[in-house]
Amino acid sequence: MRGSGGSPIAFEIHGITLALRAADCERILVRPLTHEKTYLLAGNPNVGKSTVFNALTGLHQHTGNWCGKTVSGAEGWFQHRGERIRLIDTPGTYSVDAETAEEAVTAEMLREIPHDLVICVCDATCPVRGVALAIELLAAGERVVLCMNLIDEAKKKRIVSDLAAISDRLKIPVIGITAKKKRTLTPLLDASADTIRCNSQFHDISHAEALEIASGICKETVSMPENPNRRDERIDRILTGTVCRYPVMIVLLLLVFWLTMVGANYPSAMLSRLFSQICMILHHAAETVHCPQWLSGALIDGMLRGTGWVISVMLPPMTIFFPLFTLLEDIGILPRIAFNLDSRCAKCKACGKQALTMTMGFGCNAVGVTECRIIESRRERLIAILTNALVPCNGRFPALLAIVTVFFAGDDMLSSFRSACIMTGLILLSVLMTFTASALLGRTILRGQPSSFILELPPYRKPQIGALIVRSVLDRTVFVLGRAVITAAPVSLLIWILANVSISGQTMIQRFADLLQPFGAMIGMDGVMLLAFLLGLPANEIVLPVALTAYLGQTALTDYDSFSSLHTMLTSHGWTQLTAACFLIFTLFHSPCATTLLTVYHETGSKRWTFAAFLLPTLIGILLCTAIAGIAYLL
Ligand code: GDP
Repeated sequence: MRGSGGSPIAFEIHGITLALRAADCERILVRPLTHEKTYLLAGNPNVGKSTVFNALTGLHQHTGNWCGKTVSGAEGWFQHRGERIRLIDTPGTYSVDAETAEEAVTAEMLREIPHDLVICVCDATCPVRGVALAIELLAAGERVVLCMNLIDEAKKKRIVSDLAAISDRLKIPVIGITAKKKRTLTPLLDASADTIRCNSQFHDISHAEALEIASGICKETVSMPENPNRRDERIDRILTGTVCRYPVMIVLLLLVFWLTMVGANYPSAMLSRLFSQICMILHHAAETVHCPQWLSGALIDGMLRGTGWVISVMLPPMTIFFPLFTLLEDIGILPRIAFNLDSRCAKCKACGKQALTMTMGFGCNAVGVTECRIIESRRERLIAILTNALVPCNGRFPALLAIVTVFFAGDDMLSSFRSACIMTGLILLSVLMTFTASALLGRTILRGQPSSFILELPPYRKPQIGALIVRSVLDRTVFVLGRAVITAAPVSLLIWILANVSISGQTMIQRFADLLQPFGAMIGMDGVMLLAFLLGLPANEIVLPVALTAYLGQTALTDYDSFSSLHTMLTSHGWTQLTAACFLIFTLFHSPCATTLLTVYHETGSKRWTFAAFLLPTLIGILLCTAIAGIAYLL
């Protein structure tokens, strides 16, 4: 019930009618009356919060050995002593005063989410900053349990903390755990359940004061050997040293691609055969039940075949590439890559963290664009978002691989090594183009000084293979594949329609291709390929199948049985090494897929920037291909 002009408003709550002014309603926090408790997990970045969260709730929050990967929170539930407990993971923070995007999210969560307790996770190998955060939380009136994680790593480095003494100083429970071992979490939960709120000895404290007190406490309670990080320093000398850093990065890249290519060929062919057989069986079944031909054609040859193609070319490389990538992330190599590339990024007036979002883009550009949230400066974040699609995502790899193998690798013993080298060359070209485009943007429409680069270099850690596989399969493979399939199915249907509806004896697909022929020829290709790129907007992986369908004048998406038949077919339609080169370049540099564009729109909230994200790679592709075709013509 509302008063005149909409205020006051009367509510009925538990049988009582309460009237409030409309303006006051916004300030009211409604807390549901349940017996459920809520714990917030807070802590510095990379101290194992997500690992604790996953161990307790069984959910798969993304974990990785670098800072800044959890930008939004996650929520899960678990049972303890018969009570249902809601657990909320917060982004990494050093202080309750919001300085970065992650810290702002955490500060807001602490303020807005009603909770019973904060579990402050702290790294036992360098506890000062964790203890300082606990002090700040206590000063803010929170009920806190300090959870010293990574006790196993601390033991290896011979770092010993007197937990009882720290607990005595802070007057809160301090529990040592190894989050990877779930059983070590029980004492933490018991202590959390038993903790009572008490008046804090700390009041109105600044971050600097908290750090000072924490250093004092740790000096007296933690014993450390002279140089606990000697091993990491030795590895850093190789990975980030002036002489080795670039060769090591290139070799790593080469290795990842080589393993992906060697491992993916056979399962890809098997899956492709499997889908062909399923289509045959379904056709037989359709004939038996007298299903109209247009319907079985549209569903089986259109949707199923197209979707089957996408799965068979994408699934095997993804199941190899993503775990390898996650492995680099888990060990702690990704932040070193960002470290190595920062000086280049700064020269381009971009942020070193762009190297991380760029590497994410190799998996999926939509994911890469989302990860750009780790870049604080809006200007640098926009540069990273707009240039992310200049590195090829997983959906583009199969076409690149096929064309490199067919036109440039030869068929001797060294062919897969040669393919890996050419692929690495293409990747380096895409990285170079990312830097060039970033520099261009940073000096023109996104002008400004580079912000400071602060990235914690985490210790090298042994990866958790089980969690790594689950995470790369669930978080990445299933996500990317699911999205590709959802877009490929309707597009395959559309292509089937275009390939089957004829006007004056010519299929629509051929008509459109003829229309695009002059522009296609200008950029070293033809109308068919250009049409394939246009139709491939929803999912990059279907570009080559669409082109093959149109060439053969067939009525369904076409795949190839072997690389040699692909070569014969393409050369019979006028492909030369020049056409192949232009195709490779245009595959590297053309419009991001529809999902990526949508993600850009979500992240920037601007149609203008989304259009810029479309235009930038497309223009680069057109210019490069026209230049290559022009030079070849002149020669
Ligand atoms: P968050 O950023 O605080 O959420 O940290 P994560 O949960 O992502 O963990 C960071 C890294 O530390 C990951 O590589 C984890 O596998 C690793 N890690 C987490 N807990 C432990 C632990 O108890 N022992 C060891 N050795 N590694 C751990």
